[in-house]
Amino acid sequence: MKKIDLHVHSTASDGSFSPQELVKLAKTQGLSAIAITDHDTVSGFALAAEAGQLMGIEVVPGIEISTKYGGPIHILGYYVDVNSEKLKPVLEWVVQDRDMRNMKIAEKMAADGIPISYDKMRQRFGEVIGRPHFARILVELGLARNTRDAFDRYVEKGQKYYMPRNFLSIERSVEIIREAGGVPVLAHPFQYKRDDAGLRDILEHCMEHGLMGMECRYSGYTQEQSAYLEALADEYGLLKTGGSDFHGISKPDIRLGEGKGSLNVPYEFLEKIKASLG
Ligand code: AMP
Ligand code: FE
Ligand code: FE
Ligand code: ZN
Repeated sequence: MKKIDLHVHSTASDGSFSPQELVKLAKTQGLSAIAITDHDTVSGFALAAEAGQLMGIEVVPGIEISTKYGGPIHILGYYVDVNSEKLKPVLEWVVQDRDMRNMKIAEKMAADGIPISYDKMRQRFGEVIGRPHFARILVELGLARNTRDAFDRYVEKGQKYYMPRNFLSIERSVEIIREAGGVPVLAHPFQYKRDDAGLRDILEHCMEHGLMGMECRYSGYTQEQSAYLEALADEYGLLKTGGSDFHGISKPDIRLGEGKGSLNVPYEFLEKIKASLG
């Protein structure tokens, strides 16, 4: 059976593998397709697609947009037009907002003697920078043991260097993916700590704005959990998707295509997504 991974981060956001390296790894792992779903950017797709052509790996354009609805919610978008003139200003707004927040974090750290420069971070990490990048630098400086520790003691909400940022609304996130020709999907549904009614509320609200799918298979989800999500997706007529949320070194327990060991996403999921595009 052909295996795929529809949730993958590259160096275009907070992953540690370049788009080309991800395609190479997908080949090694025996995957037939991967989707590049960076946070708030589609800039990793072109290089991945080029590498995919050379290596015979199907590369799906994607994105993962951070939104809020009661708490943080992530919306995945598949087959968005990466050159969409509608999507572009929206993502530019996100980058500008991130920049303002990040500069405040960097200034606060620098004022406390942590040797950090936001200009250098921009040069090194590109345009979509978030707290995971600050965490990586803190680890490199020997100020934190790992990403988790860096979050816990420096940049998690409630800690000294936490700064809030603004989010695109959940409605607009779903809509903009549709406007860019893509398929909006609710990411990792168990991350939001909702009960059945709470999850249904998210789904029903998002479906009013054009949601088309739900991520049913995900790193660490048990077969029972995935079966529950798949039944829910069928009940609502939503597409089923799945992926590992591979980030490379910052989430070392997650492997591409395999998640924490038992992830299994069939090519059939992708076929149905493609069929929905008409
Ligand atoms: P930002 O969007 O810059 O505020 O960063 C949020 C991202 O940081 C999320 O998408 C997660 O990938 C990551 N993150 C949030 N909390 C933690 C944590 N406690 N440990 C590791 N990563 C985290
Ligand atoms: Fe991330
Ligand atoms: Fe996410
Ligand atoms: Zn993700």
